[in-house]
Amino acid sequence: MAQGFGVGLRDAWLDLVLGGTCAGCERPGRGLCRDCRAELAALTPFAAVPAPVPAGFPGATACAPYDGMLRRLIVEHKEHARYSLAEPLGRTLAVAVAEAIAPGRAVWLCPIPSAAATVRARGHEPLRRIAIVAARHLRADGYDVRLADALRLLRRPADQAGLSARERAVNLEGVFAVRSRWAETLTDQRVLLVDDVLTTGSTLTQAAGALETTGIAVFGAAVLAATRRRVVPGS
Ligand SMILES: [Zn+2]
Repeated sequence: MAQGFGVGLRDAWLDLVLGGTCAGCERPGRGLCRDCRAELAALTPFAAVPAPVPAGFPGATACAPYDGMLRRLIVEHKEHARYSLAEPLGRTLAVAVAEAIAPGRAVWLCPIPSAAATVRARGHEPLRRIAIVAARHLRADGYDVRLADALRLLRRPADQAGLSARERAVNLEGVFAVRSRWAETLTDQRVLLVDDVLTTGSTLTQAAGALETTGIAVFGAAVLAATRRRVVPGS
């Protein structure tokens, strides 16, 4: 699997291929330039509300609109396996999580799972990689957070791109299930969903529903970015 290729070595190789550009602004450099790092550090988390709000939407804190530099970083990391970006993205997700939770209370971070075929095609599981970094930063800052790979996909949903909010909701209905070994561990615990991008809210709503059906309460979600919703006829 591609993870076996060391992060530094792989990024050095990408620099050779790409000529060495900042992943955020494409100016010459390596990894992420100082300006892009500063821009990431200045992001202020906010409550992201999809329109329309799906019934059962657990609420979400996002770091930024899904746009510009943050969007490029998410795509570069996810689609082009630029692994070194897991660090700045994880640090960014940690800010959204910290905004969503209170210090001193134990919280389980539950990432939205990817389909096995998608993980194979990409050669990695981007969100999980980012969530691990986020949890590490939060623990270093004194938060009691742990990861819970509690969700699995019962089937592979169709590609969500181009679907209306209603079509997305139907596409994702019943797609998530709770891994049985987690059901007991998470009962009466505080569970926060984490995802990379919030679009219609269907994914978080379905994931929260699966956990709640199993008796696990979800108190919210933290995401890196949220799309600015356009009003699509019929959505
Ligand atoms: Zn840059």
